This record gives sequence, C-alpha cells and structure tokens, in this order.
Amino acid sequence: MSEAQITERLRRLPAVDRLLQVPPLPDLLGQWPKELVVGAVRAVLDRQRDLIRQGEEPLDAPALAGHAAARIAASTRTSLRRVINATGVVLHTNLGRAPLGTEAVEAIVAVAGGYSSLEMDLASGKRGERYAHVVRLLQVLTGAEDSLVVNNNAAAVLLVLHTLARGREVVVSRGQLVEIGGSFRIPEVMAASGATLVEVGTTNKTYLRDYEQAIGPQTAALLRVHTSNYRLVGFTRQVTAAELAGLGHRYGLPVIEDLGSGLLADLSPWGIRGEPLVTSSLQDGMDVVTFSGDKLLGGPQVGIILGQRKYLEDMKRNNLLRALRVDKLTLAALEATLRLYLQPDRALAQVPALRMLTVGPEELEARAAKLAGLLARACGPAVGVEVIRGFSQAGGGSLPGVDLPTFVVQVQPQDAGVRVEALAAELRQGDPAVIGRVRKDMLFLDVRTVPEGDFAELVRCFQAALVRAGARRATGSYR
Ligand SMILES: *Cc1c(COP(=O)(O)O)cnc(C)c1O
Repeated sequence: MSEAQITERLRRLPAVDRLLQVPPLPDLLGQWPKELVVGAVRAVLDRQRDLIRQGEEPLDAPALAGHAAARIAASTRTSLRRVINATGVVLHTNLGRAPLGTEAVEAIVAVAGGYSSLEMDLASGKRGERYAHVVRLLQVLTGAEDSLVVNNNAAAVLLVLHTLARGREVVVSRGQLVEIGGSFRIPEVMAASGATLVEVGTTNKTYLRDYEQAIGPQTAALLRVHTSNYRLVGFTRQVTAAELAGLGHRYGLPVIEDLGSGLLADLSPWGIRGEPLVTSSLQDGMDVVTFSGDKLLGGPQVGIILGQRKYLEDMKRNNLLRALRVDKLTLAALEATLRLYLQPDRALAQVPALRMLTVGPEELEARAAKLAGLLARACGPAVGVEVIRGFSQAGGGSLPGVDLPTFVVQVQPQDAGVRVEALAAELRQGDPAVIGRVRKDMLFLDVRTVPEGDFAELVRCFQAALVRAGARRATGSYR
C-alpha cells in the first residue's frame, strides 16, 4: 500500500462533527453527556486511522457510528454485574467469595429500603449497639463470651493488634508469616497496628521454647496464624493452639489466633479436613480468635472477633473501630446466615458455599449431563460438548491441596474460526457474564458452582456469545 493511498483513505474519514450527525449518535447525544459521546467518536476514529495505516479499508460512516454507539453502550452499562461462576472455585475472591443464601438476601431486602433497629434497643427504646445483633448468636454457636464484627478479617486482625499490642511486641512463628491474596501480610498488618513483630523459630520448625525465649517485658501477646493458603509438609513442627494458650497463660499474656476461614460446621464427613473449627480454637484456650465471614462460613464480607469479654471491651472502646464498622446490610446478612447454623442440617442445606462444597458426585454428574444436553441442543453442531471428570477448589485461600472431585462440561467450538479465547471473552461480556476455565482449545464449565436454576440463563448467554464470537471473526480485527 502506497503512502498516497493511505493518505487518500485517511482523508475519506468523516470529521467528528459530521459523524455525530449519523444515527444513532444524535439520539445518544440527547441521552448522555456530550463529552462521553464525543469521546467515543474520537476513540473510534483514532482506532480507524490505525487500521488504515495497517492497510485496512476504511469503514463507512454508518458502521463507524455503530461502533461508537457500541462503545457508549459499554461505557454506560453497570460495572458491577452478575456473574455465573462456572470455574468450580467455590469461594472465588475475584467473583465476590461466598454467594449468600435466600435467608440472607431476604434479610438484606427487609432492611435495605427503610429504617431498622441498627442502633436501637427496641425493648427499652434506648440507644443500642450495632454489634449486639449477633453477640448472642455467636455465643450460642461457639461458646465465646463476647464478640465484635468488623469490615473483614484483615480489619479484625488490625483492630485486635492495635488494641492489645500497640507500642509493644507480638510473638509469631516464622512458619506462619502468611500472605493472603489482596495484599494481607502478617508483618505489614502488624506494622500498621503499631505493634512490633517478634519472629521465632524457622520456616519449617517452631517449638514452644522458641516462643518462651522471646517473651520479655515488652511482650503484649502471642499470635498464631492459620496457614490457610499453604501447607507445611515434611520435616516440620508447629506449636498447637493448646500448647501456645498454656504458655501464654503461664505468663499472663493474651493468646490470639487468626483462623482465616473459621469453620462453624464440621465438614470432615465430606472429606474436607485441615481447616480448624472455631469452637476447637476457643476450647484449646485461645483468648481472642478472628476469622472471615465470607470464606467457609458462607456469609457476607466481615471479620468476626470472638473471645474474652475483657479484651473485647477494650476493642469496643478503641476509636479505630469506628473506621472499620459494618453497615446494616452486612449485619442483616450475617445474622440470617448465623441463624441457619443454629440447626447444622439447615446450614448445610441452605448456605450456598456449604451446599456447593458438600454436594455429592451423583448429583454433580446428573447436573453436568443436564447442562451438556441443554448446550448441545441449543448450539447444535457449532460446539462439541462432553461431560468429563475434573476437580474443583474451595478457593478464597482455604483448603489448599484439597481437590474436590467433580464433573465438568467440556465445550469445544467446532468452527475453526471461533477461537475458544474469543468465546470466553464474549461470555464475560454477556449479562450475566459467564466465567469458565480455558485450557488448550477447550472451555470447561464446572457445575459445582452453577445452581441448576441458572442453567437456562447460562445456555442463553452461551448461545449469544457464540454468535458474537462468530460475527467478530467476520468483521475482522476491528475491536
Ligand atoms: C483470608 C485471611 C485473612 C484475610 O481475611 P479477609 O476477610 O479477606 O480480610 C487473614 N488471615 C488469614 C489467615 C486468612 O486466611
């Protein structure tokens, strides 16, 4: 292509003002801020100039206006959107961790649009405590004397350390200096709290005497951290909760445990082992324990602090709490979720995360067969569909090394021009978005995390995405 040809093609492109007169842009100018519409037109023209320089034929004005309209539609749609999670990762942090059950959703709806007793004691008509709504429930469920709920477990650890150890020392094993996804690191939270970290032991072995030797006049607490997202295996030694609690109490020091997930229901009958139970930690003598609400508990994003009243009272008086406090929607969802745990069978049946973690292989196989059948019927010969065995993960930095056997629908576009990455990208753009796993030339949809009630929507989105992926190939490299 000669320079002269390129120049001629560039000259044929309409000016911004002219393109703005091409439908549907005049209508869109009436609906949206001018900057937004003009910005989209400029971006489309810039992209078009690049393509012309690469040797492409320019599009005509109606096609350019269409692309600008698509850009405007994309930039004015809701950003936080519903997703069908077909990854099989039950507590997918990027997809919002635990989905809430019906009871929790209804509890949110009940208080969201109106007023609530958030900080009023309805019996006396006096000012109440927002944290009081779940104290009794947590007491019954765990045996803890007192409790407090904050924004997430990172905030819980920060508040505990800031209250009990600011300006003093906290002893931690080198084998437990964890980093959790999203930049939670024990040394950094410690620094932010104003406490000084005293590391003891080695990466693989820490003994009780290591802790004991580190105790001095500046020691404020001993901290144990659950290594939630990795396992120390091989030549290793960690001090048990009971041993550490015993040591702390001999020296009159509070002993704190960051449990990470904090299981309230025993899942070992389903082969899910290795996560500590909240009740065990307290029974072992921990004075303060913290854990997340949206990991294995299956509730909203919160950090739960349990423990002895004298420590919790200090935390409630800490001004930092005001910056970490939870809102009414969160408390409503948490209370509803905890209420289910009063009857463990109900929790297993109705807390979605627990249901997904404990669902049996027969049900998964039947569900996968059903989804495969629906997809094959809807898409015909355009895709090859097969049910295969696979593994799901708990996710959310819990249960590392635990592979949950599952059944997966394996999908392969049959049209050589439709690449599986393009299909996955179109699935992400749908409403709801569908997220699967891509490996080699295949897309895998794990039914463990897709309730049957979502199948019809998933199939509709899949069909539409397949059509768009095919059309995208037809219009070439425009996007
Ligand atoms: C997940 C986790 C955290 C952070 O909890 P968030 O609720 O995500 O803030 C802290 N400590 C441990 C051990 C964890 O597993």
